[in-house]
Amino acid sequence: MLEIKNVHKSFGKNKVLNGVDLKIDKGDVVVILGPSGSGKTTLLRCINFLEKADQGQAIFGDIQVDLHKATRKQIHAIRQKTAFVFQNYNLFNNKTALENVTEGLIIGRKIPKEKANEIGKKALDKVGLSHKYNAYPSELSGGQQQRVGIARAIALNPDIILFDEPTSALDPELVGEVLTVMKQIAKEGTTMLVVTHEMSFAKDVANRVIFMDGGVIVEEGSPKEIFTHPKEERTKQFLKRVI
Ligand code: ADP
Repeated sequence: MLEIKNVHKSFGKNKVLNGVDLKIDKGDVVVILGPSGSGKTTLLRCINFLEKADQGQAIFGDIQVDLHKATRKQIHAIRQKTAFVFQNYNLFNNKTALENVTEGLIIGRKIPKEKANEIGKKALDKVGLSHKYNAYPSELSGGQQQRVGIARAIALNPDIILFDEPTSALDPELVGEVLTVMKQIAKEGTTMLVVTHEMSFAKDVANRVIFMDGGVIVEEGSPKEIFTHPKEERTKQFLKRVI
């Protein structure tokens, strides 16, 4: 469904991605693990054109693009197929939960407001926020705000949802409710690419785990392979530190 080839990205002299290849099939839940600064977020952002890669190809269903030279039309086409869940939720503070969810449907997808509201409410129901349609972000806990972020992604009905450390800004007691929602949508067959430090999520929910370090994929495999039989020394050292 999604294939990424040979992605390179530097910020000035800092080479952050150094030739990353990745293939994701429909229904895959792929977790990317790795030390801070290893390029995980940048990879996700390059896939969605939130950053422009220096080099690389993406094949997305029937669309093939050069990640460095994609046209506006190609970027638009790929964004129609993807949704992004941000670490810091990225909600509009002056809009209600429902308005945050429907904004992309109305503006980006040109769906009439009434229909968008119907889709938006269903998405908020799914993440357990049927009682918060009209609440503003400031009236919601971090966990609830992130669930609005996930509802916004679901409402777009994308082929894949990209999650960028979705629980790392949350107080520990709020992490569980967000992971529960992510587990639920994974179970329903949503294709997901998830950067996270939540090892339990990687172990229990992912069907593939990727370990990145220094801008490259060091090792990948099933959760069992990575957590119980890591092959590479760098993976072993990382797991020793975090588990
Ligand atoms: P990870 O997600 O694995 O923690 P990141 O992709 O966030 O890693 O960052 C990798 C490196 O790229 C870090 O050294 C970070 O400081 C740098 N970096 C990320 N985004 C930017 C940016 N917009 N400008 C400059 N440097 C950046």
